[in-house]
This record gives sequence, structure tokens and C-alpha cells, in this order.
Amino acid sequence: MILCGGRVASDTPVSADPMPRRPAAKKFTRPSVPAAPLSPAICMLASGSKGNAIYLSDGQTGLLIDAGLSGVQIERRLLRRGLSPSNLDAILVSHEHSDHIRGVGVLARRYHLPVYITSKTAQASARQLGNIDKIINFTCGKPFKVNTLNIHPFSISHDAVDPSGFIFQVNGKKVGLATDLGIVTHLVRKHLSGCAVLILEANHDPEMLINGPYPWPLKQRVQGRAGHLSNMDTGHLLAEVAHDCLQHIVLAHLSETNNTPEKVLDAILPVVTDRKIALSVASQSRCGQLIDI
Ligand SMILES: [Zn+2]
Ligand SMILES: [Zn+2]
Repeated sequence: MILCGGRVASDTPVSADPMPRRPAAKKFTRPSVPAAPLSPAICMLASGSKGNAIYLSDGQTGLLIDAGLSGVQIERRLLRRGLSPSNLDAILVSHEHSDHIRGVGVLARRYHLPVYITSKTAQASARQLGNIDKIINFTCGKPFKVNTLNIHPFSISHDAVDPSGFIFQVNGKKVGLATDLGIVTHLVRKHLSGCAVLILEANHDPEMLINGPYPWPLKQRVQGRAGHLSNMDTGHLLAEVAHDCLQHIVLAHLSETNNTPEKVLDAILPVVTDRKIALSVASQSRCGQLIDI
């Protein structure tokens, strides 16, 4: 993590994680690790095209936003930050792409967690999710609650049936999340204004994408209106929504082929350099630090 004042902290590789204890019986048993006391915080458990998962809590309700890694990997990464699946009250799904739902069914069944998902996304991902006891549908544009946690989902432009970004109210602050979006619409800009914490996609460096190994149709998809935001797009968006009370920006869903953390920071640092905003780049292979909200 980089603080614009210059503080740097690094994460430890996830491969150093202790193996979590698996439940003795697979159905509806929780691991032996007890739930840790919750505090208002967010943690990027994984981010990128090989799998996405984010832990968020308002201090009373624990939420897993997407589960694009295997159930075991997500358990490990929670444990790495002193958390356990017992800290989770629900899973929230942004869209049906595999890098966001791979572990949803397994975790929902293993820990008896309800899954919040739009009806179109549930239909599109039915095969991969399998049988889930409790599916609760939400609608983009209509706020809802998971226990104590207020959530406002909003539509984003991406090549999925009903993709969603989210605003969360945590500890009296607004937390914005938008990854997997091809363009920044007026709606996205409006929702992401006034946030204390922002998790935003910075997917690719346009030159690396154009000169890189992807086949032309895939290059077109990535840079298209329903693809992914470039570092430059994200910089423009941040220039519009950054404000004095923005505390932390997490740059997420980086392409491992068409981007580097250095390229991302080169594009974003000039936008935030005059403000005291903590900046971190989420990783595919390592879970991030717990960010207090
Ligand atoms: Zn994705
Ligand atoms: Zn996607």
C-alpha cells in the first residue's frame, strides 16, 4: 500500500498461509476457527481475471462480495487476515463471470450462507452455482439490507446479463465498488461521488493491450464499451470523484498480461498526489491488508 505521503506497506504471499482446518462433515458445518470480532473494514482477498473476492464488514455484518476462487482458497485468505467463514453472513454476487462466482456454490452450501444476486444473474449462473438453499434477489437501482449492512446496487456496462456495482454504508461512510465495467456512465460517476473508500477497476494499459498477445477480437472486447476500464479511464474518473474526505483508493482487477502495478501507479498518482489519500493495488495472488473504514 502506498500512502500519498510516502508510507509503503507490503503484503505477505498467500502461499505462506497456514492450511485451514476443513470441516469434518461437508454439509453445514463451520471450520473450527471461531468468528473473530468484526470491525468496520474491507479486505481484497483476490482481484483479477483468475478470481475475485472481497470481504467487507460494517462491524456487525460480514459480507463476501463475489467468490471467484475455490472455497478452500477463500477460506485460506480469510484466515490469513484473522477472519473465518464464520464471520460471513452472506455472499453478494456482482455478475455471472467465472472469475466472480467459481466458489459461490461451495461456500454457500458449506457454510449455509444466503446468496444475494439479481434474478437474471442467478439464471445465467445456475449451472455453475448448483443448488443453493437461500437465494435472495436484488434489483439494480433498489437499495437493500443484509442484516445491518445497507447496500445500493447500480448497473454498470459490462458483457454480462445484469452486472452491478455497489455502494455500501459502513460506519457512517460511503464505500464504492466498481470493477468489470467498460465505460464510466453518468450513473457510475454519480454513485461513486462522495465515497470515503473506493475500489475501482484499473484493468489495462492501452499500449500493452494493443501490442500484447491477445487475439484481436479479445483486444476489442477488453477495450470496448462492455469490457474493462483502462488505467487512463480510471484516472479520469478519479479526477472527477476525488474529494477531501476520500481516504483510500484500491485499484483492482488488473490484467496480468496487459498491465503492471507500476503502470497503474504512473497513471493514478498524478491524479491524487496533492491529496492525503491512501492508495493500494489489489493483487491476484496475495490477499490485501484489512482496510479500516
Ligand atoms: Zn472479472
Ligand atoms: Zn466480468
